[in-house]
Amino acid sequence: MIRYRQLIICLALVLFLAGTSVAQRSASQPAVIPSPKSVLGFTPGDDRTIADWSQITDYFERLDRASDRVTVQTLGQSTLKRPMIVAFISARENILALPKYKEIQQLLADPRKMTQTTPRDRLLANGKVVVAISCSIHSTEVVASQMSMQLAYELATAQDSDTREILQNTILLLIPSPNPDGVDIVANWYRKTLGTPYEGREPPELYHHYAGHDDNRDWFMLNLKETQLITRLLWHDWFPQIVYDVHQQGSNGSRFFIPPFYDPPNPNISPLLLRQVGLIGHKVAADLQAAGFKGVLTNALYDTWWHGGFRTAPYFHNSIGILSEAASARLMTPSTVTTEQLVRSSTRGMRNATEATTNFPDPWPAGQWRPRDIMSMEMIAARSILSLASKFRGEYLRNFYELGRKNSEPAKNKGETLAYLIPAGQARDEAVAKMIGSLIDQGVEVFRLDRELHVVLSQQALQRTNSASDKLGTYKISGSLTAMQEVPTGSYIIFLNQPQRYNVVTLFEPQIYPNRLTAQGEAERPYDVAGWTLPLQMGVEAPAVVAIKEAASERKLTLLKDANEVRADLALTLKKGDESPIKNPVKQPVRVGIYKGSMGNMDEGWTRFVFDMFNVPYSSIRDVDMRQGGLSSKFDVVIFPSQSSAQILNGNAAGNFPAEYTGGITEAGIKNLKEFVNGGGMLICFDNACDMAIKEFNLPLRNTLEGVRSSEFYCPGSIVALEVDNKHPIAASLPATLPAYFINSSAFTAAPDANVRVIARYAKENVLLSGWLLGEDKLRGQIALAEVGVGRGRIVLFGFRPQHRGQTWATLPFIWNALSTAASNTSE
Ligand SMILES: [Zn+2]
Repeated sequence: MIRYRQLIICLALVLFLAGTSVAQRSASQPAVIPSPKSVLGFTPGDDRTIADWSQITDYFERLDRASDRVTVQTLGQSTLKRPMIVAFISARENILALPKYKEIQQLLADPRKMTQTTPRDRLLANGKVVVAISCSIHSTEVVASQMSMQLAYELATAQDSDTREILQNTILLLIPSPNPDGVDIVANWYRKTLGTPYEGREPPELYHHYAGHDDNRDWFMLNLKETQLITRLLWHDWFPQIVYDVHQQGSNGSRFFIPPFYDPPNPNISPLLLRQVGLIGHKVAADLQAAGFKGVLTNALYDTWWHGGFRTAPYFHNSIGILSEAASARLMTPSTVTTEQLVRSSTRGMRNATEATTNFPDPWPAGQWRPRDIMSMEMIAARSILSLASKFRGEYLRNFYELGRKNSEPAKNKGETLAYLIPAGQARDEAVAKMIGSLIDQGVEVFRLDRELHVVLSQQALQRTNSASDKLGTYKISGSLTAMQEVPTGSYIIFLNQPQRYNVVTLFEPQIYPNRLTAQGEAERPYDVAGWTLPLQMGVEAPAVVAIKEAASERKLTLLKDANEVRADLALTLKKGDESPIKNPVKQPVRVGIYKGSMGNMDEGWTRFVFDMFNVPYSSIRDVDMRQGGLSSKFDVVIFPSQSSAQILNGNAAGNFPAEYTGGITEAGIKNLKEFVNGGGMLICFDNACDMAIKEFNLPLRNTLEGVRSSEFYCPGSIVALEVDNKHPIAASLPATLPAYFINSSAFTAAPDANVRVIARYAKENVLLSGWLLGEDKLRGQIALAEVGVGRGRIVLFGFRPQHRGQTWATLPFIWNALSTAASNTSE
C-alpha cells in the first residue's frame, strides 16, 4: 500500500519536473534564479511536504550557481558522512571580498592582533555585521531547515531598498542544518508514515547517531563532528556578532518564544550582551505583532545559565546569541490546538497560554496550527534580526570589539585570578589532551611551559557557608592559597587576559546555582544543567594562579596550535583523520552488549559514543534479542544505559508506532537476563536503569531518593563528590575522592548484612562541587556505586551517570575497570 503510494508520488514528481523544465527552457533566461518551488515541486512549508538533505543541498548548489549574492561552502562531513554546508549571503561586492571581511572579523575579535596599518576606526568603518542563522539543530523541529531555502531565495532575488541595505551592511552565514543526518532520519520517517495512522509522530530513534537532542549540549566539549566543524566556522574563521538559533517547542503553549530570557542569568555573561539580546528579541516580537501574529512570549522558561548550547556559546565569544522557539505542528502535518490545552499549558514566566500579561500581551485564540505559520514567523524573525544588524552596523561592531579588548586587559587587582594551570604529571594524559584540545578548538589560547614558572596557586572550591539549614544552605567559592611554588616545564597555562576570558572562567570555576523555589516551596527546574565545570568533570587538576614571580619577558611559553601538539608532548598516539587515537583501556578481550531499546535514548547514544571514542568493541542489543535470549553465548557483559524500568520493560506502546517499534524486553527479556547473570554474566546499570535491576533481581538495595519531593531534595545536573574504595578492582588506580555527575540520579542504602560490595559513596560532607544541591543530607554517605553477587554472576549499579554526554572523563575508568574484571573472569 505504502509502496504503491510512493510510486504515484514519484510519477507525479517526474511529470511535474518535466513540466517545469519545459517552462524554464521557454523562458530561456540564463540569469533566472531558481525558486525552491521550481526545484522541489512544492513551496517549503506547504502542508505534508518535506525536503531531504540531498534536495536541500541541491537547492543551495543551484542558488550558488545562479546568484552572485550567494556562495556555498562545504565545511566537512557529518557523523554519518553527509556534507555539512553554509551559505554566505550578502551583496555581490561583499561576496567577492569575503577574505577581506573575514580578516576584519578576526582583528575585531582579538584586538591584540591590530597593528598601525589596521587601525580600529578603519576596521569599524569598513566591517560588516556577520550574522549566523542555524536551522533545526533539533531535527524534529523540522520547519526551519525547510524555511532556509525560501529565506535564501528571497534574499537572493529581492530588489527593494530594505533588502539591498541588509545585503550591503551584513554578511549572513546561513546553516540550513547543523545536523544533516537528522534531516534525513526525519524526512525518511515522515515519508514512510505519511498517510498512515502514525503520520506526524516523531521517529522512534535518536535523530543524531550518538546524541539525539543532546546534539545541542556539546558546544564547549566538542565531542561531535558537527559541533567541531561549526565551531571552526564560527569561532576560528568568522566570529559572527549575532547568532540566531532557530528551534521549535511543544505544541500547546505560546506560538513563539523570543528573548529576553528568564532568570537566572549566568553571572559571567556581559550585561551588555544580555541587553543587546533583549533589544533584538523585542524588535522581533514587535515585528511579529505588526505582521498580525498572536501568541508571542518573552521572558519565560528559557534561561542563560547553562553553557554549551548553540545560542549560549556566542556569549562566551563576546557575541549575541538569539533563540526562537515556535510552537510545533506534527512534523509537517497541521495540528489542532484547543483552548483547554492552552489553559493547561504553564511554564516559568507564563501561568497559562490564554492569559494576557506584559510578556505575553496577545494570546493566540486556539485553532489549527500549520507548518506555514511556523515558517512565516521564522522568516519575519530572521528578517528583523538582519534589519537591526544592518541599521546599527557600527554599534554591533564596536560593542563586539570593546568586549574583546576589555577581556584582554591584564588583571588590575592583587589576588585576582590571572590564569589556570594544568600541571604536568597528572597520570590522566588522555583527559588532559582532550580537555586542552577542546579549548584550542573553540579558540581559547593555551600555552605550554618551556621553562618552569614560580606561582601562587588557589584551589577553587565550593564551600557551604550556612550549614544550619541543610535544605537552603548557601555556597560560595573559596580558594586556599599555596606558598610560592615551582611549576614544572611541560605544564600548561591558560591566561585570563584573552578575548575569551569569560569562556575560560565559566569552564574552570565551580558554578553556584541560586536556590530558586516555586511559591509552593518546590525546586524550580533550571532550563538545562546547573553545573558543568570542565576540569572537575574530566578529573583534571586545574588550579587558579593568582601570582607569577617571573615577569612576562622572563617566561618561556609556546602557544599550542592543536590537540596533536599536546598528544605529542604526552607521547600519545597522534590523531589522524577521523579515527579516535585513544587506545582501548580494557585489559583483555570482553564481549560487551549495550542495550538499545525501541525508543531513542540519549544516554544509550552517549554510551556508544564513549565506547567508540575509546575504541572499546561492543554490540547493540535490541528488544527482540533480549526476548530471544541466549545472551551468555554472545556476551560477557550487558550494559543498560539510564532508562526507566517501565520503558525498558514495555518500550513504545502498541498503537502509537508500527509494530516493529513497539514492546520492550518484556518478562521474557527479564527471564533471559536472570539466566545470563546467574550463569556468570556481568550486568551493569547506569542511574535510572538500576531500578529495573533492583526490582527484578530483588536486590538488597533501595534508592533512597525515590519519591522524595523536590522541596526536600533536588540536584539537577551537578557535580558531586564521591569517596572511593580504590582497593576494589572496579576502582583500581583511581583517587580516593572523585567528582561524579548527578542529574536527578540515584543513591542507595543496603540492607544490613547484605552481600553488597560498596565501591563508592557520596561524600560525607561538602558533597556539592559545582551546580545546585538542595537537601545535601539526603545524599551524604549514601551508596553511589556498588557490586552485588547474583548466582555465578555480578550486577554493578552506578547511581550516577559515569559517561554523561561524553564529558565525565573522571568516572569513565570505573566502566573500563568493570569490563576488565569481567574479562579476567572469562579467562579463568
Ligand atoms: Zn530545540
